[in-house]
Amino acid sequence: MKRIDSLKPTLLKYTTEPIADYIVETFNQSDYQLVISPHRSSKLGDYSPPFRSRSYHRISVNGNLNMYSFFITFLHELAHLQCWQTHHNKVKTHGQEWKYMYASLLKNAITKKIFPADITEAIEVHLTRIKSSTTYDYLLIKTLKKYDESSYEDGQKEVSELNCGDIFEFKGRTFKFDRIMRKRALCFLIPGSRKYSFSPFVMVNMLNEKTKKI
Ligand SMILES: [Zn+2]
Repeated sequence: MKRIDSLKPTLLKYTTEPIADYIVETFNQSDYQLVISPHRSSKLGDYSPPFRSRSYHRISVNGNLNMYSFFITFLHELAHLQCWQTHHNKVKTHGQEWKYMYASLLKNAITKKIFPADITEAIEVHLTRIKSSTTYDYLLIKTLKKYDESSYEDGQKEVSELNCGDIFEFKGRTFKFDRIMRKRALCFLIPGSRKYSFSPFVMVNMLNEKTKKI
């Protein structure tokens, strides 16, 4: 397990000081392991309860997220941990109990003025319609995106950022983005209209405006 004295300096590589302090405080309150993972296209973070010889909870968060996405993902997973402590596996993963705990954590973070004003506003809207993943809340995603460092290569975007009709290239083939359906993005192969589903977190190469008019 990560030692508490090295946790804060590690967290400061990924997020702000008030957030690092907040996470360290929760670390003192619960017995969990925090794993900062490399980019995973399938998820932003995850939680697993104590299992077999592992007596502690485990939370993982992708290390490539911006400082606020990192924290919101952390709170999502911390809500799973708190839900497990109270209900174990007797409730749905993203059911009412989890939503209540996640909302409480977000409200608490807002009270502590951890987020800038625009993210606070987007979270307040998000709180009225909490979904199982922030990637289903476009206002929050678009607001959080403003804080991404432009680490993408020129012309690259994440599928979650696309608008209906956008044309992109992926692994040598051309696709048209249609919409996000449940947890996947519906796209069509060009030419033809064969359906494909993409993870919303996949990076794709945008094709230029001229090509877009195909
Ligand atoms: Zn979850």
